[in-house]
Amino acid sequence: AAEKETLGFQAEVKQLLQLMIHSLYSNKEIFLRELISNASDAADKLRFEAINNDALYGNDHELKIRVSFDKDARTITISDNGIGMSRDEVISHLGTIAKSGTKEFFSKLSGDQQHDAALIGQFGVGFYSGFIVAEKIIVNTRRAGAFVSDGVRWESAGEGDYSIETIEKPSRGTDVILHLRAGEEELLSSWKLKSIIRKYSDHISLPIVMQKEEWDEEKKQTVVKDEVETVNQASALWARNRSEVTKEQYDEFYKHVSHDFQEPLAYTHNRVEGRSEYTQLLYVPSHAPFDLWDRNKRGGIKLYVKRVFIMDDAEQLMPTYLRFVKGVIDSNDLPLNVSREILQESRDVRVIREGSTKRVLGMLEEMANAEEQEGKDKYATFWKEFGQVLKEGIGEDATNKDRIAKLLRFASTANDTDEQTTSFEDYVKRMKEGQDKIYYVAADSFNAAKNSPHLEIFRKKGVEVLLMTDRVDEWMLSFLTEFEGKELASVAKGGLDLGKLEDEAEKKEHEETETQYKELVEQMKGALAEKAKDVRVTFRLTDSPACLVADEHELSANLVRMLKAAGQ
Ligand code: ADP
Ligand code: MG
Repeated sequence: AAEKETLGFQAEVKQLLQLMIHSLYSNKEIFLRELISNASDAADKLRFEAINNDALYGNDHELKIRVSFDKDARTITISDNGIGMSRDEVISHLGTIAKSGTKEFFSKLSGDQQHDAALIGQFGVGFYSGFIVAEKIIVNTRRAGAFVSDGVRWESAGEGDYSIETIEKPSRGTDVILHLRAGEEELLSSWKLKSIIRKYSDHISLPIVMQKEEWDEEKKQTVVKDEVETVNQASALWARNRSEVTKEQYDEFYKHVSHDFQEPLAYTHNRVEGRSEYTQLLYVPSHAPFDLWDRNKRGGIKLYVKRVFIMDDAEQLMPTYLRFVKGVIDSNDLPLNVSREILQESRDVRVIREGSTKRVLGMLEEMANAEEQEGKDKYATFWKEFGQVLKEGIGEDATNKDRIAKLLRFASTANDTDEQTTSFEDYVKRMKEGQDKIYYVAADSFNAAKNSPHLEIFRKKGVEVLLMTDRVDEWMLSFLTEFEGKELASVAKGGLDLGKLEDEAEKKEHEETETQYKELVEQMKGALAEKAKDVRVTFRLTDSPACLVADEHELSANLVRMLKAAGQ
């Protein structure tokens, strides 16, 4: 065996370990879910690599996860015969946090325990959760296809460092051995472990086996039998009938596929038959990931073909503006050796993407139209977390533009708060007699929008104006010019035509005023010739003396600022 080496954890790992042990203690059972989830992922990866290299299986084709414990040694062991890890993989996967959004996560930590505990729950801790109950963790692993003599042992007390050495490991895959802390003895029980597995890991599609125990009448005690039993249902959850799956099971499955610690907001589960046959189980998370705005962000859909895992993050299966959706799509039509390149061109994939998009929009509509408060709150949460991303759909998805438009929510002068709760439909219902346009003001902050001088006349007349202050708004509005036949009009653009909202007396008064100031306007035009395209008398202001407006067909001042900021 090669010499034992001691290496330091990446600084973030140290920080995370400390934080996690304290903040997740009240929920410590989840360590088993995390380790079983990793074992299941490892089996998926092996199956996938073996599609083109059957030799990786050796003589061990039956993938499974084994959970065992040793009362005397005070250990719990989670073993799998999945893909295993090489020395380099152990160092990079168990010594660092490679997860995207890590930097963002750490920058949000405040030192306040409760606040940080909630954050850590969103970030997810995976493998390191073992240290909640273990004072030492040993990982013995060998990568599929590697020599027996190329096994690796990793060992750590979850403090500053870990050691790593080469070992002989006869079987492929990974054993994670937890040496329990004092006080965690209750976990050393077959009954306890089985109940945790059934609660959190029932949805795992591989068998999770444990040594069988039976009551012995003669000895008057339970004895460990020489055989194992499968503790979970061991069938792919998405392949079961909806009526056979409980909400708790759906939620746990979500945590497994998404690596999220929180419950999802909503899910949709369907078997689609016809032109293309596939099953979809899709979830809307309850919070945005730390890397929602990262351009290289990975998507959240796992692709399976006839139950065989093919790839994580199959971004072709979901449009970009729905990149927050997590879940599984299992196709009956795609070939097992499908690659990302093939996915890009596949007709089947296009059909699946269109079908899945419709399902997700349907799920959002259901939340948005909910009658009861719980559903309304859910949609409000969704909008707060993902509304800005959904807006991208207006430009990206011409087919579903109308459906997406109905899902949009805005701040409005109707209540003058920055809460985005007003839909176009709400707005239309509140339109004034004679009003034929939907008015909005776009600005780069809520306060700027709310206090815009352009609003004065609208406030005076009691006409509602939508306050658009998100970065994507103006870009989005360039694709959305009307809603159900009502033109969207910026209050800051062009000759403001209040149409029928203006009465005859006002019109006459305006005309007279215009004549009266004609000379002044001409002088100002001359003086501002270089700077202003036109100077007009306006009636849109009630308190401010003057304001700048953009021409009807020109970029607005705000958009010009944005484009400049983006270097265009
Ligand atoms: P995540 O599962 O979200 O990637 P984890 O902290 O749970 O994060 O695991 C980190 C990484 O360690 C995994 O992505 C995987 O590469 C590796 N790993 C953990 N457990 C196993 C295992 N049983 N077999 C193979 N690789 C594993
Ligand atoms: Mg994990």
